[in-house]
Amino acid sequence: MDHGDHRPRKRFGQNFLTDQRVIADILRAVHARPGETVAEIGPGRGALTEGLIASGASLHLVEIDRDLAALWRARTGPALQLHEKDALHFDFSSIPAEPGALRVVGNLPYNISTPLIFHLLAQSASIRDMHFMLQREVVDRMAASPGTADYGRLTVMVQYQCRVDPVLEVPPGAFFPAPKVHSAVVRLVPGHFDHGVAQSAHMLALLVRQAFTQRRKTLRNALSGLLDSAGISSLGIDPQRRPETLSVSEFVRLSDAAHAAGAVPEAEGED
Ligand code: SAM
Repeated sequence: MDHGDHRPRKRFGQNFLTDQRVIADILRAVHARPGETVAEIGPGRGALTEGLIASGASLHLVEIDRDLAALWRARTGPALQLHEKDALHFDFSSIPAEPGALRVVGNLPYNISTPLIFHLLAQSASIRDMHFMLQREVVDRMAASPGTADYGRLTVMVQYQCRVDPVLEVPPGAFFPAPKVHSAVVRLVPGHFDHGVAQSAHMLALLVRQAFTQRRKTLRNALSGLLDSAGISSLGIDPQRRPETLSVSEFVRLSDAAHAAGAVPEAEGED
C-alpha cells in the first residue's frame, strides 16, 4: 500500500509493525475465519489489516488518525468498514455481530492501552476474544500472580472476567520507529468467571480500585469505609494482609460482603 508521506505520530502511539514473522505469528494466533466479525483498533498502515482482510472475515477498522484512515477509505465495502473514531469512546457493541461473537485485534497505542482495555471490558458481553500488542510490562501485570510486584488493579479486573493467555514476546526492532520498551501479545477471553461472579460488578471495581490506591497499607486500612476488621475476618481473611496478597476470589468475597453491608465506596479517582 502507498503510505503517502505519512510520518509516524507520537501522540497517536504510532509504532508500525514491520517484522513479517511477528505479523504472521499474530495473524496465526488470531486465526480469523470467513463469517467472523473482527474489529481492528488502529489499523495504521495495515500491517495486520491486510492479513485480516485476506482471512475473509468481516472487518471493522477504528482509526483516529484521519491521514491513516484515508488509506482505507477507498477500500471500504460490505466486508470492510471504517470508523474514523477514538477507540476510547467507540461503542464496540454497535458493530453488527452475533451476540458475544465480536473478535477484537489491535497493536495498541501504548499511551492509552490501559484505559482502552477497561473500556473494552465494560463491553465484554459483545466480545468473544481480544488479541492485543501491549508493553510487555502490561501483559506481565495482566498475567501476574498474587504476592508479586506486578499484581494490581489491572490484574484483578482482567482476571476476574477473562482468561489471560500471553501469546508471544516482541522485541523493539519489530517496529518502526522502534519503541523504547519490549512488547508482548496477549489473548484475553471474556466470560471466564473462574473466581466467582460478584453480586455487584460496580462494587468490585470500586473496592479493587480503593484497595490498590493504598497497596502499602494493610487491608483493614485500605478498605476503610467499606469493611471493618471484623467484617474482613468473618470471611476468613486476615485484615493485616496487604491487598496485593489477595486472590481474585478473595476480592470477590470482600466485594460481596461490602455490598451486603450496604457500604458506599469512596468517590472514583483517576486511573
Ligand atoms: N496496526 C498498525 C501496525 O501494527 O503497524 C498500527 C499500530 S500503531 C502502534 C497504533 C495505531 O492506533 C495507529 O494507527 C494510531 O493512529 C491508532 N490510534 C491511536 N490512538 C487511537 C485511538 N484513540 N483510537 C483509534 N485509533 C488510535
